[in-house]
Amino acid sequence: TPAPPSSLEIATAATLRPISEVAADLGIEEAHLEHYGAGVAKIDLKALDVGRAPGGRAKYVVVTAVTPTPLGEGKTTTCVGLAQGLVQRGAKAVVTLRQPSMGPTFGIKGGAAGGGYSQVVPMERVNLHLTGDFHAVTAAHNLLAAMVDNDLHHGSAVGLDPRSVTWRRVMDVNDRSLRNVVVGLGARMDGVPRETGFDITAASEVMVILTLSTSLRDMRERLGRIVVGSTWTGEPVTAEQLGAAGAMAVILKDALKPNLLQTLEGGAALVHCGPFGNIATGTSSVIADRIALAHADIVVTEAGFGADMGAERFFDVKCRADGLTPDLAVVVTTVRAMKAHSGRYDIRPGKDLPPTMLEENPGDVTAGLPNLKAHIGIVQRFGVTPVVAINAFPEDHASEHEVIRHLCERLGVRCAVTRHVAEGGAGAGELAEVVMESLQDGSAFKFLYDLSVPLVEKIETIATQVYGADGIDLSPAAAKGLADFERLGFGRLPVVIAKTHLSISSDPKLKGAPTGWRMPVREVRASVGAGYVYAICGDMRTMPGLPKHPNAGRIDLDADGNVVGLF
Ligand code: ADP
Ligand code: MG
Repeated sequence: TPAPPSSLEIATAATLRPISEVAADLGIEEAHLEHYGAGVAKIDLKALDVGRAPGGRAKYVVVTAVTPTPLGEGKTTTCVGLAQGLVQRGAKAVVTLRQPSMGPTFGIKGGAAGGGYSQVVPMERVNLHLTGDFHAVTAAHNLLAAMVDNDLHHGSAVGLDPRSVTWRRVMDVNDRSLRNVVVGLGARMDGVPRETGFDITAASEVMVILTLSTSLRDMRERLGRIVVGSTWTGEPVTAEQLGAAGAMAVILKDALKPNLLQTLEGGAALVHCGPFGNIATGTSSVIADRIALAHADIVVTEAGFGADMGAERFFDVKCRADGLTPDLAVVVTTVRAMKAHSGRYDIRPGKDLPPTMLEENPGDVTAGLPNLKAHIGIVQRFGVTPVVAINAFPEDHASEHEVIRHLCERLGVRCAVTRHVAEGGAGAGELAEVVMESLQDGSAFKFLYDLSVPLVEKIETIATQVYGADGIDLSPAAAKGLADFERLGFGRLPVVIAKTHLSISSDPKLKGAPTGWRMPVREVRASVGAGYVYAICGDMRTMPGLPKHPNAGRIDLDADGNVVGLF
């Protein structure tokens, strides 16, 4: 048999519907579209007001996963495939996804807008500049950085202590050489020398603000609350005090409008924002989801990494900012992830999976099931109904799927095998049916913790009840930081925990569902504009590097001006 076509070949062969038609299907009028070339349009925020009547909202489905292998287990493809499957069954379904970062696009081969017959198109637009939102975030972020350094240069009217500045600069590139830099070198008029660095644009607090804002006004206020450092006496200094927030809002005003694209089968797909999964929510925007919920019957969205990280933050941070309640969580699992959690294989980031993992071996799958069980439990802890999606790969064996189905039966959780990558929406038929059936159950959604409890208790609750830790160990610096945040009035914020995504624990080497461990909290920071405090447990990379042979070396234009080598 001939090799199946690549994701790029499938995407380029697709015939796109006019985007106005896709919008019209949802009841979004032409007057609310701003076209950005064929197949892409921004949706004006006015569309928020003309959707369905309050109360009659759509069902909100979040797609999460087990603890992934470094390759990813298929949340994005499942989001797209499920939406396609639901549309094939006559539902008015929309998928909302975050926009991929350009930095990693040039690092590792593999698209971030689905794969095979479950993709968002035009895919080279999604994976590259799209409508320039990331550039706007970069510009707004760096304007504030310039105003910080300008304030220092002019003797700081607000009394900013240069050694306290935490606001760095950003760029949408994987470039390890920018992690640590010195600015302000040169002569007297060239600024104040100080050590700082760059993060990838996705890791900018401005990106999170764009993601979580519910309106232009909310965004403007959040930008004003950004803390860039402190005064000599330890009081926070904000973007508002530096006079930067208004201009930042102006730079970002168009970026707050979600981007409408389509699935390979011509259904609506909203692609908007791209906050880093490690230190932020790793989701698409609140505004995109609200517009989708106002116009569709079912909205399918993705939360980054496993349920321990992505779904927990989706529920406790995004849904809180959003005021919306999720109805259902799809937990994606794969045979390869279950085998990885057996602990019987040596799996390393950047390396291929061991070939012996592809052989039929239901025993290994059984050994990895505690990880799936833990993620199902996490979703249930929030009062949300889980549905398990077994994302089928060509090398899987039926006996291996059966093992997973059996666990779900024992737990009383609905389960479906999905073949959306190979077969598109038709391949997601069983999953779409099961999702539609489960949506009849209703949801008893509840947050994990109340905002009124102390920050340390919030961290402890997530560590023990979601990650399965016995407790937390705060470093002296983290304990002092939390006490400072409580004193400064940040104690009512939710928390985000920055830890490895390769284990439910904070140690990437621990597979399955680790018990008998404690979570060390090294450092805490406040993203006051984004609206959360984050606790750092383990290494935290906010500026990735490129591999030895970057994918950029394979990307080019062909004689007709088409992009080649993206995937
Ligand atoms: P996630 O969103 O969970 O990180 P993705 O959906 O982006 O995962 O998938 C990760 C990678 O695996 C992508 O390159 C995707 O094309 C590929 N992939 C996902 N599901 C399948 C499948 N069923 N068969 C083959 N490849 C797949
Ligand atoms: Mg994804």
